[in-house]
Amino acid sequence: MRVTEPQGGLILLAPLSGWSTPLEEIPDPVFAGRMLGDGLAVDPTGATLHAPCDGEIVTLPESRHAVTLRADGGAEILMHIGIDTVGLGGAGFEAHVRPGRRVAAGERLITFDLDLIARHARSLLTPILVMEGCGFTVVRSSENREIAVGDVLMEIASTAAAGRRDGTGELRSAEARDETAPGEARRVRVALEHGIHARPAAQIVNALKGLAAQISLVAQGRSANARSTVALMKLGVRKGDEVEVRATGEDSGSAVDAVAALLTGPHGEGGPPRSTQRSPVARAPAQSADASNPTSERPQAASNAVDVRAGVALPGVIASRGLAVGQAVRLAVREIEVTQAGAGVAHETLQLDRARAQVRVRLEAARASASNTAREIVEAHLELLDDPELTDTAQALIVAGASAAYSWRQAIRGSIEALRALGDARMAERVDDLLDLERQVLLSLGGNAGAAAEELPPDAIVIAEDLLPSQLVALDASRLAGIGLAAGGATSHVSILAAAMGIPALVALGPGVRRIAPGTPLLLDADAGLLHVDPGTERLNATRRQLERRAARSAAERAAAQQDCYTADGVRIEVFANIGSLAEAQAAARNGAEGCGLLRTEFLFLERETPPSEAEQHAEYQQLAEVLGGKPLTVRTLDIGGDKPIPYLPMPAEENPALGLRGVRTSLWRPDLLRQQLRAILGVRPYGQCRILLPMITDVAEIRSVRAMVEEACAGIGRHEPIEVGVMIETPASALLAESIAVEADFFSIGTNDLTQYTLAMDRGHPELAARLDALHPAVLRLIARTAEAAQPRQRMVAVCGGLASDPVAAPILIGLGVHELSAVPSVIPRLKALIRKLTMADCTGVARQALEQSSAEAVRALAMRLAEREIETV
Ligand code: PEP
Ligand code: MG
Repeated sequence: MRVTEPQGGLILLAPLSGWSTPLEEIPDPVFAGRMLGDGLAVDPTGATLHAPCDGEIVTLPESRHAVTLRADGGAEILMHIGIDTVGLGGAGFEAHVRPGRRVAAGERLITFDLDLIARHARSLLTPILVMEGCGFTVVRSSENREIAVGDVLMEIASTAAAGRRDGTGELRSAEARDETAPGEARRVRVALEHGIHARPAAQIVNALKGLAAQISLVAQGRSANARSTVALMKLGVRKGDEVEVRATGEDSGSAVDAVAALLTGPHGEGGPPRSTQRSPVARAPAQSADASNPTSERPQAASNAVDVRAGVALPGVIASRGLAVGQAVRLAVREIEVTQAGAGVAHETLQLDRARAQVRVRLEAARASASNTAREIVEAHLELLDDPELTDTAQALIVAGASAAYSWRQAIRGSIEALRALGDARMAERVDDLLDLERQVLLSLGGNAGAAAEELPPDAIVIAEDLLPSQLVALDASRLAGIGLAAGGATSHVSILAAAMGIPALVALGPGVRRIAPGTPLLLDADAGLLHVDPGTERLNATRRQLERRAARSAAERAAAQQDCYTADGVRIEVFANIGSLAEAQAAARNGAEGCGLLRTEFLFLERETPPSEAEQHAEYQQLAEVLGGKPLTVRTLDIGGDKPIPYLPMPAEENPALGLRGVRTSLWRPDLLRQQLRAILGVRPYGQCRILLPMITDVAEIRSVRAMVEEACAGIGRHEPIEVGVMIETPASALLAESIAVEADFFSIGTNDLTQYTLAMDRGHPELAARLDALHPAVLRLIARTAEAAQPRQRMVAVCGGLASDPVAAPILIGLGVHELSAVPSVIPRLKALIRKLTMADCTGVARQALEQSSAEAVRALAMRLAEREIETV
């Protein structure tokens, strides 16, 4: 990778792939204002940082988020992965070099977890800078284009004004100890949250620019020139360390004051105090002022914190991944005016009943055709529509003389206030539901029951303050390219819906969104978490080409999806689907599922007053078997209880439902229901297509009890053919007892969702823990490895049907651990198959072995990402 170097200058090669971007686009004044140095930023698509030239590693902080390299001629290059990443404390970064190491151009320096950083950093933009004062300057740089690692990125040249420095950034010893010159010294304790890292160092250097004093910082016996960011960073000063600021020369007093203030002052992290900065990772307050009034737009004048000019990239939180190019469409949100006074109790009562009835009819129709995710949301709305607290409160207000609309709004707002008072983040979704329902009923009251769908132009990127689920589903999905919301959270219902619809979406983009004019060209990068406003034709076109490539790739993957799946070296890996409805079974068949690895039968039992009869269940299972065209159908017995009560199954109150009557425990507690279900499954023709899967198993006694009931049921319906009975490995107990369970069970299916929840002792539905609840945690992987090992002597098939099976990045590890079947959400099956066809067992066992040795989920993910980068992006 050698490039001819210009005389007296140096070529810097792109250290990572992505999009080269002017520094001005970085949402940080220190970098954007070139305080640290000149250069450009890369909006990364790759997750490995390489050396841009030959040189020596000068600084690499413990947080591994940045690295400085000194080129042979003395140029110092800082590469800083993402913005505000020092606070990650090293999570998601793996360094391959140490300070003092010589590296060659193109050598790997740091690998990082793009996904994790995207979720937690202010921005992914990665500045590549020629450090201020190192004696080099940028001559030419390659901005606004797609770059690959090793492309020529910048040409730099030495300046005549290289200064007095010796190239190390540290003061020559004579200067450092110039005790004869008049001067000033002060000891201070460093208050900077993350010590002296790149940004505070740049601020110190910047603060000294107008002053003539020679100034140094002394820490732990080492001295550094306070005018050199590299030298300052190299001191490795942390919060709480005591340092001495020394200056000589006529304005030494002012110089010491300036540096001491930055080291100890409240604004030392480079801007206003953190609490007043908008952080895209902080969940946008679900109860923002705007959320309390869904039908009106906020005033725009007060929201000019972000300058949304062409080329600006607004950072947001990823709600649904993907890329979209299109034009901004502001959603016309109409304020619904309500009058307080009613026109009589009878009239208003009738109005409200009618409006609620209309909404009920629409919701029930929506439920019938909805996918799983949308159905859950619709069901939540239906439940709230008849909530007695809401209806009673509204009725009381009507009786007191208020209008139906006013009463309904007041009842809803009262409930919202009560939920907010709980201060529980998990209530945010309920608040969304209530606001949505308020709007739906008010629209019906206003005679606008059908709420005509918004007219969208093609490739619309809808931008709005916030969006309600009912507004989203009313949009024409064929024209909707993406969504960018100022507010919202990644786990809000609208985010979940967008993900289910496959529409790229960013939320919590902040007030800058309000300043985007309708029709503005937008690039919504919901992989990197950035909304690029009017990024220029070249970039838009490049992204369109990228989208075309993606579309072509996924078309090719779909075309090959119906074929059986083997690894590159001929090992059969079955790719099945998880289903929970007829529509999902159809999607599974379309996407090339080789069977169903998990039928969640709960869908038949919820939202009704009596359990489904045996005949009803049988008809449903038979229909699903037919849709799968004879391919295996794994029917899981009812996994209900705890937090999903059903009216015809009154359960004792439980303090801790996740650890209570769940899964097979509920079935054994109500054997009548299990017997019915078993008979319904056993009756499905042809015999042999269905297999039975038991949830939440913890020991062999549970399996033996169910087996006895299966035999009894077979006898009852006159069936002589055997049926396979497998168990879900989703408790640490079952993984640890897998040897003995293998004696009783015909196959294993690992439920990584619950296995992770119970292994890490983290509630799988807890929004604050969501980012840490990663099934690639090495503790979970060790339990999977143990299960697969235990299955071998008896040749039991091992499947994974938890969410990890739908994560392509995890597939090589799972296969390497000994998993034979992946049961995934239907839409990812073509992708999974394409990836598996590129892998060899040596790849898989290698990465699996390494994964088991890691000490954190982040480290495993980084490892998996490296293999994925090599294989997934090329398939
Ligand atoms: C699991 O726990 O991983 C699983 C597949 O079951 P469910 O998500 O239905 O609990
Ligand atoms: Mg489970």
